Amino acid sequence: MRLRTIIDFMSPGIIALACGLAAAALAQEPPVKLEVDATDATRKILHAHLQFPVHPGPLTLLYPKWIPGEHEPDGPITDLSGLKMSALGKPAAWRRDDDDMFSFHVQVPAGADRLEVALDFLLPPSSEGFSSGASATAQLLVLSWNQALLYPAGVKASDVKYSASLRMPAGWKFATALPLAGGSAPAVSFATVSLETLVDSPVIMGNYLRTIDLTPGEHPAHTLNLVADSAAALEIKPEDARHFAHLVAETGALFGARHYGSYHFLLTLSDHVAHFGLEHHESSDDREGEKYLTDEDYRNTAAYLLCHEMVHSWNGKYRRPAGLATPDFQKPMKGELLWVYEGLTDYLGIILTARSGLWTNGNFQDYLALEAARLEHTPGREWRPLADTTIAAQLLYEAREEQASSRRGVDFYDEGDLIWLEADVLIRQKTGGAKSLDDFCKKFHGGESGPPKVVPYTEDDVVAALNEVAPNDWREFFRTRVYETAPRAPLGGIEGSGWRLAYTNTVSPMLKSRESEKKYTDMSCSLGFTVKEDGSISDVIAGSPADEAGVGTGMKLLGVNGRHWTPEILRAAVKEAATNASPVELLVENEDYFKTCPVNYHGGEKYPLLERDTAKPDLLSQILKPLTPEPDLR
Ligand SMILES: [Zn+2]
Repeated sequence: MRLRTIIDFMSPGIIALACGLAAAALAQEPPVKLEVDATDATRKILHAHLQFPVHPGPLTLLYPKWIPGEHEPDGPITDLSGLKMSALGKPAAWRRDDDDMFSFHVQVPAGADRLEVALDFLLPPSSEGFSSGASATAQLLVLSWNQALLYPAGVKASDVKYSASLRMPAGWKFATALPLAGGSAPAVSFATVSLETLVDSPVIMGNYLRTIDLTPGEHPAHTLNLVADSAAALEIKPEDARHFAHLVAETGALFGARHYGSYHFLLTLSDHVAHFGLEHHESSDDREGEKYLTDEDYRNTAAYLLCHEMVHSWNGKYRRPAGLATPDFQKPMKGELLWVYEGLTDYLGIILTARSGLWTNGNFQDYLALEAARLEHTPGREWRPLADTTIAAQLLYEAREEQASSRRGVDFYDEGDLIWLEADVLIRQKTGGAKSLDDFCKKFHGGESGPPKVVPYTEDDVVAALNEVAPNDWREFFRTRVYETAPRAPLGGIEGSGWRLAYTNTVSPMLKSRESEKKYTDMSCSLGFTVKEDGSISDVIAGSPADEAGVGTGMKLLGVNGRHWTPEILRAAVKEAATNASPVELLVENEDYFKTCPVNYHGGEKYPLLERDTAKPDLLSQILKPLTPEPDLR
C-alpha cells in the first residue's frame, strides 16, 4: 500500500466453540453464491445477496476485518447495514458476538441446506482512508468485494470458493483481474474462485473507462485501465503510456519471473475518492485526483504510485513476511517486517519510476532529498526505533498528521528507501560492481513464473539471500538501522552513492508541486514548522527555532512581522532575517487567544537537495539506469 496524506504532508470460550462448530455447519459444495447489485452506487449504496451451502446447526459468519495490504483491522464494519438471514423461506435470527464485533452467530434450522444472507454496504461520501474511504462518485465505483460479503468462520480464505456476479449502472464499463464467466456490462458473472482471490480482485467501473494494452501480443498480458470522473481525465500522454509499458519491461528484467496470469493496473482518477494505492497479486487499486495524468506537476509528486503497487506483486503478495501471511481476514497481522514488505517495495518503486522514465534522475534526487531531510528533522527518532513504527503500523496509519515529527509516522516507507539504497550501494561496492540489489531481487522474488502463490519469509531468509549475493554482516546492518534508535537519518546510501544531502535557499520543483498540491508551506528545515494554507500549524519540530519561540501545533498563523501572512511574506521574512539580528515575529492565534512569538533564526531559507560528491563514483546514476530499452507502444 502507498498512502498520500501522512507522508507527503510532513510528515495516513464462546467464540472458540462457535468457530469449532461453524465448519461443521458449512457445506463445502457448491460454492458460496454472491450477487452484488451496484446499480445504486452513485447514491452510495451497494446491495448484496449471498447463498451459503450449509448443514443444520450453529454457524458463525464473519465480516472481513484485516484487509490484506492495509496492515490494520480497518474492515468497514460500521458501514455494514441491512443484514438479514433466512433459511427454508423463514427469517433466521442472527446475533453479533459479544467480543468480536465482526462475527455473527446463527442457528441453521433442521432440514435446511442453504442459508440466504442479504446485506447492504453504505459507501462513504468524500473521505480519506484506504479502501474503506470514499470509493464511489456520480460517475464511477471501485468495488472491494470484502466490503459486501460475509464468510464462514473456521475455514481458510484460500479453501472456500465463491461465485460472484455483479450488476452495475446502465452504460457503465468495468475492468478487473477477476476472470469473467459470462454476461457483459451491465450484468456480469465471474468464474468461481477462492475467497482469497475474490478479495484480491477489486473491480473498477464507470461511465468513463479506458483500457490500454501495455504489452500488445505478449503473454502475460498487461493492461492500464483508467476510470475517471470525466472523459478529459483519460487523455493520457503517449509518452506516459510508453513509460508505463517500460515499467512492465523493467519489472521483468529486475525480477526475472512473473507470478500472475495477467496484470491489470486499475487507476481511478477522481477528486472525490480517497487517494492511495493498494496492491494485489494480479492488479493494483490505484487512486489519484482527476488531473493525475494530465497535469505533469501533479503527476510528478506521486509518479511512483503504480510502480510501488506493481512491485508488491513480487514483494508483498508472492513473497510475504510470515506474520502478514494470515489464513483469513480475522487473524491479526504482525507488521514487524514491514521494513521489507513496504520499505524495499518503496525503494524499488522509486528506482523503477526513474528507470521507466516516469521521473527524470533530477526528480528522483529531489524526492529522495525531501525524504531524507524530513527524516533528519524527526525528533521522534530519539525515542522510537524504526522497528516500532512497523510493529505499531496498525496504529500509525490512523494517527493524526499533526506533530508527526515527535510521534513518527509510518516511516518504514521513506526510511526503507534510504536503508535499501545503502544495501544496494554496499553490494555494488563489495562486489566491485559485479552484483547489485537487482541480483537479490531475482534470487528472492524471481524463481519460476506461474499463477499467484504466497511464499512466506522471515528475517533470516532475507539475511541469507543477501549473503548469497554479497557476504556481509547483514543482520548487524539491519539491527543498527531498524531496531536501534538513531537521532540521525541513515544517509550512508546517499553518501556511498556519490551524493550528499545539502540545503539551498531555492524551493525544488518537486517541493513546489507538492506544496501546491497539498496546500501547505514547508519551513521545517529553517524555522522548524509546516503550515497549511489556512494558517494552521501542523507540525513544529521539537528543538527548532519556532519551538523555542513558543509556536505550537494547532495554533493558527495570522501575521509575520506585523503583516497578514502569506507563504511569500513568510519566506521573504526568513530571507531578510539572515541579513540582520531581528527575530521573525509570528503572530499566532491559540484557540481564542493571540500571542506574538519572536523566532530567533538567521540561517536563511533552507530546502533540501542532493549535491554531487565528485570524490566518489556516481553509483546513484548507475542504479537509476534502465535495464531495458523503452518499448515502442503502438
Ligand atoms: Zn505498499
